[in-house]
Amino acid sequence: MASLFVTAAMLTSSLAIAQRPGGGPPQSIKDATVDAIVKEGTENSQLEKLAHELMDGIGPRLVGSPKMKQANDWAVAKYTGWGITSRNEKWGEWRGWDRGITHIDMVAPWTKSLEGTQLAWSPSTGGKTVTGETVVIPDLADSLAFQQWLPSVKGKFVLVSMAQPTGRPDYNWDEFGTKESIEKIRKQRTEQTQAWTRRISKTGYNARTLAVALENAGALGVVQCNWSNGFGVNKIFSANTKKTPTIDLALEDYGLLYRLTESGSKPQISVRADSKETGVQPTFNTIAEIKGSEKPDEYVILSAHFDSWDGGTGATDNGTGTLTMMEAMRILKKILPNPKRTILVGHWGSEEQGLNGSRAFVEDHPEIVNNMQALFNQDNGTGRVSNISGQGFLHAYEYINRWLSRVPGDIRQHITTNFPGAPGGGGSDYASFLAAGAPAFSLSSLGWSYGNYTWHTNRDTYDKIVFDDLRNNAILTAILAYMASEDSSKTSREKSVLPINPRTGKPGDWPTPTKATRKGGLN
Ligand SMILES: [Zn+2]
Repeated sequence: MASLFVTAAMLTSSLAIAQRPGGGPPQSIKDATVDAIVKEGTENSQLEKLAHELMDGIGPRLVGSPKMKQANDWAVAKYTGWGITSRNEKWGEWRGWDRGITHIDMVAPWTKSLEGTQLAWSPSTGGKTVTGETVVIPDLADSLAFQQWLPSVKGKFVLVSMAQPTGRPDYNWDEFGTKESIEKIRKQRTEQTQAWTRRISKTGYNARTLAVALENAGALGVVQCNWSNGFGVNKIFSANTKKTPTIDLALEDYGLLYRLTESGSKPQISVRADSKETGVQPTFNTIAEIKGSEKPDEYVILSAHFDSWDGGTGATDNGTGTLTMMEAMRILKKILPNPKRTILVGHWGSEEQGLNGSRAFVEDHPEIVNNMQALFNQDNGTGRVSNISGQGFLHAYEYINRWLSRVPGDIRQHITTNFPGAPGGGGSDYASFLAAGAPAFSLSSLGWSYGNYTWHTNRDTYDKIVFDDLRNNAILTAILAYMASEDSSKTSREKSVLPINPRTGKPGDWPTPTKATRKGGLN
């Protein structure tokens, strides 16, 4: 309780702590604008409401889906309500697909509703419930033997994933297992995984082409389990089939079917999957801006991708980054309605298929990218910001530290910096701007088990959001935007000599721009 009290007290205090250049005790910098930002973000936070509207009210935001467009329109309406100019800017087209219900049941040898879903862009079952036996990809000598076996999949569902030897994540084994049993299960999993990789490769296909070969041979559907090494979590990506559904099952249910199939119990499942193809759809970035009063042609950009995978509701990837930037814009409009430079926010489309929305924006708006003061991107989960890298810019040390010096100590204490750092080559949208030589930075967050539990999983939902950390991030972002906007000097783009590449023996190269995919998912 004491630490809670300290946090609250520090949030409402006007003190920010700055390190003197020569070391020595921290000194406080009083800044009324920072105080007002902290107060607005703390006492009038809109984050819970926005999170509910976006994650629960709209849901996941797969590129080209009706929900993505609904989210674009929702964001424009929010900004309009806050008096901020905004627009949906078309940058491309994508295969349109609308997720429907997926019902999956085991109907023999006994009855059980199974936990699973269609993968994104998976074909439907054509308005019917389809029932069939399950079969496992067999371990055959070579591709010739596989071709001979292939016709036997006709009228069956094919299990294409390995059955995991344990549904317990590593940390659970580490907590309770004996040394011997931990070693044994790890060894078993490694050997089994290698054997499964060999089994698939001997078919003569890879994961992508195998799915197509199976459906062409008359399989009713492809069943997989992309376990994410945690209790109840699977990664949900896109289907490789073109005519028949691909479904992902929870580890528990997949293991059940797999073992029953192997033991000759001839399990049957029934599947109904009602997705719809909606044709070619336009794709958008949602852009909003607060015009600069002195240097309107210079830009501070707040950045977060808006799209998501659709196994969950895209809460931490990247609902939280999205809301951080929206809330920062709301606060800024209220506290700093006439910034010196223009503050623009970009909610990018199709980051998940290759940073496409932000790459398109960089291609379409050289006048903005060439006049960027700074960009702040957030896209690695719900946690409080814990690291900022200079991304290889020689003088980032000076300006980022200058901006951070006004950030209250209770927010800054969590942040380590590294300068000059090295430019990120991908991973999220700041890389699109970096590749163009523009000063773009990643506000990198604490993990909160992002990699296993929420990143691209069926469990990336509202309840995983840590609102205290999100408030921390919205306030931090608003302060950084304020400082970057009002800074008397323009940021330097001078690049540092990058670390030696061990392969070439020469300094590394700065990343170069990659073209946006403007028409996707249509082949
Ligand atoms: Zn993301």
